[in-house]
Amino acid sequence: MKEKSKVIQFDYPLFDAIPPEVEDITAIYLRVSTDMQAQEGYGLDTQYDKIRKYCEAYEVPNPVVFVDDGYTGVNDHRPAYQKMLELMHKGRIKFVITYSLDRIGRNQMLILKFLKEECVKAGCDFLAVKDNIDSRSKQTYGILISILSIFAEFDHDAIVEKLTLGRKQRALDGYWKGGGVPPFGYYYSKEENNLVVDPEKGPLVKKIFHLYNSMEYSPRQIADIVGMSSDVMVFGVLKNRTYLGEITFRGEQYPGKHEPLIDEETFRRTQEILRKRSVIRGDSHYLLSSLIYCGVCGAKMRYMKWGRGKSQKLKILCYSKYASSKSYLIKDPNCSNYTYDADEVEENVVSVIMDFAFKYREELSNRVITEDEVISGLLGRMDTLKQEYNRLIYAYKKIGDDDLLDQAADVDAACKKLEREIAEEREKQTYTKQIEENENMLRTLPDTWGVMTAEEKQNVIRSLVSKVELKHGEIKVYLNKTQYEKIVLGVVDQE
Ligand SMILES: [Zn+2]
Repeated sequence: MKEKSKVIQFDYPLFDAIPPEVEDITAIYLRVSTDMQAQEGYGLDTQYDKIRKYCEAYEVPNPVVFVDDGYTGVNDHRPAYQKMLELMHKGRIKFVITYSLDRIGRNQMLILKFLKEECVKAGCDFLAVKDNIDSRSKQTYGILISILSIFAEFDHDAIVEKLTLGRKQRALDGYWKGGGVPPFGYYYSKEENNLVVDPEKGPLVKKIFHLYNSMEYSPRQIADIVGMSSDVMVFGVLKNRTYLGEITFRGEQYPGKHEPLIDEETFRRTQEILRKRSVIRGDSHYLLSSLIYCGVCGAKMRYMKWGRGKSQKLKILCYSKYASSKSYLIKDPNCSNYTYDADEVEENVVSVIMDFAFKYREELSNRVITEDEVISGLLGRMDTLKQEYNRLIYAYKKIGDDDLLDQAADVDAACKKLEREIAEEREKQTYTKQIEENENMLRTLPDTWGVMTAEEKQNVIRSLVSKVELKHGEIKVYLNKTQYEKIVLGVVDQE
């Protein structure tokens, strides 16, 4: 049996005793899972205290306490949470305040579902006081949602392995993974719990393969013919093994239970054409493609396969030194830069980013605490002033001395001023948050890098690194200038 936390006296009605006529409710959502409490470092009283201060300072309408005491955040089987959703559906709750984002749930999907679906549907604002996440600050909020969406799991340590196992099991069983966008031509059927051919788009998939294999149309032209927005989408279709009736999970193929759209022979032929043409299409799929510059002559550098068969290696070299380069790519035909081992360069760039991420993680956690303290200090002062005000009004009612009323007015004015200060401070924090857009990604990066696909890794590199410069065995990694100062480190062994 679960042990309950110590009993707290709330100043507001509880969720199971709301008068039926009350609308425009501000829901105060509190949750502790008793076994986790020590670990998490905050109990119900800490959560409540912080939110109450906010409610008083901002005089939110009709606060009601929704408390789940002794419930895990891994799922949403929680009575107060469910009651809150029910009232949100009915449009009676217009604002939800919680201590931190993880009170809503311990995994990204729960949180996303709540923020993106429930709150939006109910036209309900959301605030996590400790995390300073506020749906009314559209910009910060959008960033949060996209970060949540980018990373597979928010609460990585606890959840990612379980989910991965579940997904892998689905793949082994031949089912499309839960969630995500189904491949073009299929839709996800809840009844069948699997992919089903879309009667309109399914035939288009066959058409795309047919057109491409005829070798008479470029992917760009095919995109126009079938009404896709870009050739990237066409390439996506042509390479997708789901159309063979297979399920792909982490690069491994499993026999699927859905209907195939393409036969083996057609697919094999397509891959062959793709391979031949990709030689002409260039090297855009490598981790650092188009980011590497020659530090000696200033030309771009490119990836190149070196050697044959098993001893084949991937190298990076300056366009100026590459015999068949187009003339505009050559800066100095006598460029003295070395040729580099691609793996080694990539490894160095990744380690630069990881180092940076670790440092940022520490710095960030320090900073958040300091800023938090400023606000809680201000809120504390506000608390004292409000008490003072109430005391004066109370005294005035008893004694009727006009002096008391004047004093009360002064205190009230001081309150208003403090309110503005608090608002300014919050604004300042919001601004900092915006700068932290990439920092947030950095913070979780050391945990998430290992489970990212090659494409996700490439996206991360692209958003963080503006340029990599190689010069006589030295590597300079320029992080995105808008977010970071340029940093320089590391030396690669020369050839
Ligand atoms: Zn060069």
